[in-house]
Amino acid sequence: MPFSDFASNPEIIHRLREMLARNRFPHAVILSGAHGSGKYTLALMLARAMNCLEPPFPGGGGGSDGLPDFCGHCSNCTRIAQALDLDSRFAEAVVARENLRDTDKILAQAAGTLDFSQPVAIMLMAILHYIKDLGHRSLEAIESGNLTDLGRLMDEHWTHKKQRSKQMSNPDIDRWYGLAMENGALGGKLIGAGGGGFLLFYTEQKGRLRQALRGEGLVEVNLGFDYEGTKIL
Ligand SMILES: [Zn+2]
Repeated sequence: MPFSDFASNPEIIHRLREMLARNRFPHAVILSGAHGSGKYTLALMLARAMNCLEPPFPGGGGGSDGLPDFCGHCSNCTRIAQALDLDSRFAEAVVARENLRDTDKILAQAAGTLDFSQPVAIMLMAILHYIKDLGHRSLEAIESGNLTDLGRLMDEHWTHKKQRSKQMSNPDIDRWYGLAMENGALGGKLIGAGGGGFLLFYTEQKGRLRQALRGEGLVEVNLGFDYEGTKIL
């Protein structure tokens, strides 16, 4: 499946491939969108375009449109494609679409209207505004050196996030979070990507929090602040 078969977001894909062509692709790109919108598929396509050993039309720089593409059969393409189980991804996407539609229906009923798209959009905007506001308040707390407030904002954010979707957490994470809050944490955050991750807490009682979480078998990871931003290693 070459880039031309990817149905949505042609402009964004064009821009990403242009970046590849100019060798100006950023170290990290966040692809966001609803579950089932093709983020994972696209990420793997970009990874193959970056690493393909036999790009089609090498003279023209890649695909039939002159932008980087991938052959799909060289050893790099094959290896990267192993991460892509299309059938199950497709099934997931179908389920996700159905769920979205159900959410639309419930929201439309709640709003007493038959317009299935608007309530979702309004709710999303409200959520995004709220999160933006949390960001501003966090910045204020950091700039004024009020880290206690920052900790509490982390808790507010986590509570809000959990209300938004049941999939944000699981019973283990809930237990650890609760335990941390009972043992001196002021707030926390789940960080890291799907399939594994970290819990980050803010506390003014380090010893007590460490002991409580170690008792649950959790491993502490040391971290520090970086003051230089992203850099090429
Ligand atoms: Zn290839």
